Amino acid sequence: MHIFAIANQKGGVGKTTTAVNLAAALAANGQRTLLVDLDPQGNATMGSGVDKRALPRSVYHMLLATASLADVRAASPSGKYDVLPANRELAGAEVEMVDLERREKRLKEALTQHTDEYDFVLIDCPPSLSMLTLNGLCAADGVIIPMQCEYYALEGLSDLVNTIKKVHANFNPDLKIIGLLRVMFDTRSTLSNQVSAQLEQHFGDKVFKTLVPRNVRLAEAPSFGVPGVLFDKNAKGALAYLAFAIEMIERVKNWKE
Ligand code: ADP
Ligand code: MG
Repeated sequence: MHIFAIANQKGGVGKTTTAVNLAAALAANGQRTLLVDLDPQGNATMGSGVDKRALPRSVYHMLLATASLADVRAASPSGKYDVLPANRELAGAEVEMVDLERREKRLKEALTQHTDEYDFVLIDCPPSLSMLTLNGLCAADGVIIPMQCEYYALEGLSDLVNTIKKVHANFNPDLKIIGLLRVMFDTRSTLSNQVSAQLEQHFGDKVFKTLVPRNVRLAEAPSFGVPGVLFDKNAKGALAYLAFAIEMIERVKNWKE
């Protein structure tokens, strides 16, 4: 089982879109996949076709140990993957976890009992460096960082890289950056191409080969509760996330060898 956190402390950079579409694309390739929604906004939950307003139990209960993973998980009705769903309740977890022991390891501990059931676990992190994100980073083997190739992208990246270094040093020695995923990419923009080239220069093979273009079909899909890769299979955005899933499967294969 490979566990990846999809993180970037900035909002609106494509974390949830990447989490939902990578989960659906991995599942379409026969990978047993679990998507963990760690954002109280519950966008990954809704985007997977699970109604966040009608959850008997959510990731919140699992983190506070009042429900087990098996109690909380739901099958995505549209994709062939499982979801640990979230809603606004999760915002309270931050405060309520303060007195718990090993509070940064709650997600990791919940997942350890299910290592044989999944090939991939993807964690959609909230846009902050909070206790929820820390739980995601403590549970993960690696981080996937979606980013837009814009002027301030590199600046924001150094904060995230420093946080990952701190978590690696203090909590999770297994944690590493798997790669940077360029999303909402506009091939016709000179700036995008310049930033993209800079990224390749600084980060080398840490930059994924797949480029996810800006594509309106990916943005439309969530309102139907269907991952973009299934909503319009032939759209450029869908094809990119399918290619990204293959790239991830290949990377993981090379680790085993
Ligand atoms: P985050 O989870 O980082 O806040 P989202 O995945 O929710 O970001 O994306 C922010 C917005 O951008 C959403 O409205 C989403 O539909 C849209 N979006 C994400 N990726 C793309 C893309 N490749 N093309 C077009 N729109 C996108
Ligand atoms: Mg999000």
